[in-house]
Amino acid sequence: MKIASIEVFALRVPPEDGKIEVEWGMDCSLVKVTTDTGIVGWGETDSNPAIIKTIFDMPTSHYLSYSLKDLLIGENPLDIERLWNKMYLKTLHYGRSGVAIHAISAIDIALWDIAGKFYNVPVYQLLGGKYRDKIKTYGTFIPVEDIDTTVEYAKRALEDGGFDTLKFGGEPFGLNEKYDIEVVRRLREALGDDIGLAADVSKIWPDYGTALSRMKKLEQYNLEWVEEPCLATDYDSYKRLASQVKTKISGGEALATVREFNDFMRIAQPSIVQPDVTNCGGITEMKRINMLAELNSCKLIPHNYGSGILLAATIHCLASFQHGDTMEYSNSMSPFFRELDRNLVRSIDGYVTVPDRPGLGVDIDEDVIKKYTYTW
Ligand code: MG
Repeated sequence: MKIASIEVFALRVPPEDGKIEVEWGMDCSLVKVTTDTGIVGWGETDSNPAIIKTIFDMPTSHYLSYSLKDLLIGENPLDIERLWNKMYLKTLHYGRSGVAIHAISAIDIALWDIAGKFYNVPVYQLLGGKYRDKIKTYGTFIPVEDIDTTVEYAKRALEDGGFDTLKFGGEPFGLNEKYDIEVVRRLREALGDDIGLAADVSKIWPDYGTALSRMKKLEQYNLEWVEEPCLATDYDSYKRLASQVKTKISGGEALATVREFNDFMRIAQPSIVQPDVTNCGGITEMKRINMLAELNSCKLIPHNYGSGILLAATIHCLASFQHGDTMEYSNSMSPFFRELDRNLVRSIDGYVTVPDRPGLGVDIDEDVIKKYTYTW
């Protein structure tokens, strides 16, 4: 079997009038890999779709600056790890992290989807089999300036997925102390002590001193964890914070490859790591990162705020990981989450059920792709 074609789709819901940026989840890059036997695999990454498309379609430069299509067409799609290492090496000059690894993540997920369909087994079976049939979910929502409305969002998010734990984050959270303390106080008051609550700073606190003082003031509200209290690569500040506060610290959604996670876990010493399978290097790299998390006694709770492809890939990984019992569940209104995958796995009573269909188990609606494809 050979890779016959690779199509890359840049999708976006047009931004609101007068804006140049889209909300998180309102754009995505999809990769469709077709083999000469007719098997099709799907992958996704959350990056700038224009760059991702370029990384596949551009002409190759020198031997460390390859186009991904030139590396993959004609290859056996079942040689997943060999192809991963080939892509990493042959993009080394412009790659190693960031967008090149995002593009590799998308293709890697598509190759696992193909392998599952070829062997007629779900992806988790290829990863070593499953530890569990269901995975616990927590819900994520984005707060707004008005705290009464934010509390309403929280209550609605809780009902939507049947969760017993919620995370909130994104601006305006992080922008000023008064809001940060008040929104957590009000959420804790409204949700009660039996609902888990986590806060995602999303790198907005500007420095270590702010992070330390804010986390100390939030300790009384018993947060499950505080996510990305420092810049993603400011590992020393993570480490200083971890030694000063009682609340668990998490991070890693912006990091790529086991090499970056190795530095992050050894230096920053987070309690929880949150790789995103569509950005960290795909399923192949997520498996390596999970091994590293076990070696460093870190809890791995993946970032999951994209389409049904990310969701399915995350579920297959966690099902096959010894301690993979918890995951984020998006509440995004994006069509890429709600409509793209006809088999979208729902969170019911706070759990997702691991799908048993071959491959990832997704069923992509290509009309959604046609509707939101954009050019520039
Ligand atoms: Mg986050």
